[in-house]
Amino acid sequence: MEKVNKIRVRYAPSPTGYLHIGGARSALFNYLYAKHNNGDFVVRIEDTDLARNIPGAEESQINDLEWLGIVDDESPYRPNPKYAPYRQTEKLEIYRRFAVELVQKGFAYECFCTEEELEKSKEEQLANGISSPRYDRRCLYLSEEDKQKLKAQGLTPTIRLKMPDNECIEFDDMVRGKMKFNSGDIGDFVILKSNGIPTYNFAVVIDDHLMNITHVLRGEEHLSNTPKQIQIYRYFGWDVPRFAHLSIIVNEHGKKLSKRDNDIRQFISEYRDLGYPADAIFNFLFLLGFSPLGEQEIFSKDEAIQLFDIAHLSNAPSMFDQKKLDWMSASYIKAMSDDEYLRFVKQFLDDKYLSFDLQTINFLLLLFKEQIHRGSDINYLMEEVLSVADFDQEVIDYLQKETSVNVINSFVEEIRNLSSLNKDMISEAFKKVSAKLSLKGKDLYMPIRLKLTGRYHGLEIYNIVIALGKETTIERLKK
Ligand code: GLU
Repeated sequence: MEKVNKIRVRYAPSPTGYLHIGGARSALFNYLYAKHNNGDFVVRIEDTDLARNIPGAEESQINDLEWLGIVDDESPYRPNPKYAPYRQTEKLEIYRRFAVELVQKGFAYECFCTEEELEKSKEEQLANGISSPRYDRRCLYLSEEDKQKLKAQGLTPTIRLKMPDNECIEFDDMVRGKMKFNSGDIGDFVILKSNGIPTYNFAVVIDDHLMNITHVLRGEEHLSNTPKQIQIYRYFGWDVPRFAHLSIIVNEHGKKLSKRDNDIRQFISEYRDLGYPADAIFNFLFLLGFSPLGEQEIFSKDEAIQLFDIAHLSNAPSMFDQKKLDWMSASYIKAMSDDEYLRFVKQFLDDKYLSFDLQTINFLLLLFKEQIHRGSDINYLMEEVLSVADFDQEVIDYLQKETSVNVINSFVEEIRNLSSLNKDMISEAFKKVSAKLSLKGKDLYMPIRLKLTGRYHGLEIYNIVIALGKETTIERLKK
């Protein structure tokens, strides 16, 4: 009978950059799979590419995940002593021991080739029409004596895995179905570099095994690594986890999102700083490659956990649809209570509005609740009401017309005597101006709107007047 293990999955970022959309989606799907199955979600740091590590990247990745609500059960900051450490650079001795074990069993061997030799062999193979050159195995046949001599000359070897010549490496991918590779197509790859640092394909297997990882959900770009990793499991005689390779994420033009793509913001922190609510991004990422049945698009975290099912993951590329994200973000903002919304949106408000009285600010912010897609939108909307745009010639001509001048003067007279301003009072004032001058509609409202804001469009006119207050309204109208 198959033994039933607790489901354990992991997100294993390299701290070579900040959390980006693809990484966040992998983390989310692992998290959802764990939570759906009462399993553990582990965050492990794959920091063996020393030259590319960036200070602060690890902390920021974990903070960004927490901000999204993707909270780990285990990580460098929440270690389970049974599985710690959670950073690969803290386990170098362990990887070395396992690499030596493979050498002793004849499944791996020392390689003394220099970069130049390897490069030369590659070029020769290409010149001979071999399109995917492989390591030519010259060090596989070194005698013990040769090796001692090379070591005495001060050369430190790498360790290469010896791939079987012609074996089928098969696995049943949970997203893409049966995958088949021939071991002979994969060259003998380095598992331990001469400086004692393991390569990704080796360290990942040791970690996944020692951490009892049962399922590996990761990006499609790792598909070709999987047979290499499976061969290592085979040599050790370990259980192989189940694999699920998530489809790539593409932009509107069908091109894979690349960190160099300037059209799309790639990093989760950029979205946070612009004021996209975390729940909205969580929801958006949930649908990036996952299609629940039906038309529903807004899902709470609990619903996402409940619904998540690898069988509903798409193996076709998922499109990053900025418009959909904006729509989703706006939906989450609209669904906030007014208090929640005010607290949220004030985080993004420019300091210059701090001097306004609280009532006016809250009044305006609430007016925009239905209009904003993200917190930072608030500033341009505020700007549009509270500042006056430069008048262009067309505006100047319009405001100089006799009817415009009359409307403005009469309106000032009407509101001058009001003790406070509200919607009814302002409507009443407009009615009186209308009766007096026999004007209606646009002829009545546009002169006021243009004189107050310099713009043809914006909030309803009475809201502008309320927001500006009597004094400022009169001041602008009389200018
Ligand atoms: N460190 C790898 C990456 O960032 C993880 C790959 C894996 O999940 O095995 O792509």
